[in-house]
Amino acid sequence: MPRPIKLPVVPPSFHVLGELPLDVGLGIFSLCSPFDLVQLAATSKSNRTLILTHESLWESAHNNLARGECPRLPTRPIVETSGNYSQEAYVLWVFGGGPCSQCSKPTTSLPFKFLFRFRACSTPCSRILMSRQHVHYCSPAEFKALPYSIGLPHIAREEPSTEIYIYTSLKFVTNAKHEATAAKQFNNRGYRPPASSTFKRRSQAELDAEYTRRERSRPAVEKNADDLQTWRDLYNAQHAVVAAANNDFITRMAKEERVNPSRLGRTPTLKRLKHAFDRDLELLTPSVWSHNLSTIVDELGPKRVVCQHCGKTYDEDRLSAHLSDCQDAQLGTMFGWNKQKALCQQCPESRRLYTKDGLEDHRVAQHGLVRSVIAWKRCPLCPDRFRVFKSQEGRMKHDNDVHNSGPPARGPSRDGK
Ligand SMILES: [Zn+2]
Ligand SMILES: [Zn+2]
Ligand SMILES: [Zn+2]
Ligand SMILES: [Zn+2]
Repeated sequence: MPRPIKLPVVPPSFHVLGELPLDVGLGIFSLCSPFDLVQLAATSKSNRTLILTHESLWESAHNNLARGECPRLPTRPIVETSGNYSQEAYVLWVFGGGPCSQCSKPTTSLPFKFLFRFRACSTPCSRILMSRQHVHYCSPAEFKALPYSIGLPHIAREEPSTEIYIYTSLKFVTNAKHEATAAKQFNNRGYRPPASSTFKRRSQAELDAEYTRRERSRPAVEKNADDLQTWRDLYNAQHAVVAAANNDFITRMAKEERVNPSRLGRTPTLKRLKHAFDRDLELLTPSVWSHNLSTIVDELGPKRVVCQHCGKTYDEDRLSAHLSDCQDAQLGTMFGWNKQKALCQQCPESRRLYTKDGLEDHRVAQHGLVRSVIAWKRCPLCPDRFRVFKSQEGRMKHDNDVHNSGPPARGPSRDGK
């Protein structure tokens, strides 16, 4: 029989949302995801009381996760043994993230092997977790011979050799062993269990009673782990669909705001929103977006723009300052990009802007520039600036046609004959 839990008294009115009648408040809470409920319960004593006294809220929260291919969250096992099986602890265990069971790195992923309570941060860690390093296995007889193995969740599997093996978490076994030693040493005040142990200290009689409860609870715990394991694959598949749709939404909003989508996605508020919506298999909506837009824009900081001349990125308000000392812009390479006009570097007083050809003419006339390198571009026999040739072939054709000199226009001889 589950141990009776003392429930707190329901508060007379629904305080959190102002003057709302209780049933309206409950209606709103019934739209929450399981993780929302846990977080709401943590915000105030009256919320917690309200949530813990309305089992139906947990029911609706579990149902709210049934989206697309994903079924509702399997219900927690209702058991008499101690352990993290309260509604809140159960939801936190599934959705709250925690350290990787192999390397202790924090991870937000769901537990990856529910029966062994394993959480993995990566595929390599999940492989190590399913090895002898973390899994205890032995024959059923050996398992039964361990006095402290009573009630430990485990699986029996038939191996190709047709032998049946019992698998459980090595940590469960080690912990249970220390727990048994600690019960034997209950009256020894000097005894300290190892720091890694996670059990409550009990006398031998208390532990024997707990063993009985544990063994009676085991089928429910094992069934729930099995249900969660099946549910996890469907949840993860739907999670991937929702996460992709939410990414598309962010990309669309980034286009509207004219910012880089990954930069937008890295703002703390949008990152939190995306994580919560993905987790609860919910799509981000325009109203969520407009609600949070001003915070997100603040977090974006000044707009970053690229200098057309040197290709480096600057804050929008710093670009004009940069342009005045951008080496590339000063060197006049701006001609190459588009038909922009430039100042003459040799006339610092003048504000006159020249095109590329205009500047060359000006420098020939005013600063004694010799047009030696590009002599073929203009014909010395024709008036200056009469025509600028685009290619050497064009100039050769011109020489041939207009001045009857140079190699023939068609098929200029390559061997010089
Ligand atoms: Zn890891
Ligand atoms: Zn620049
Ligand atoms: Zn000049
Ligand atoms: Zn000419």
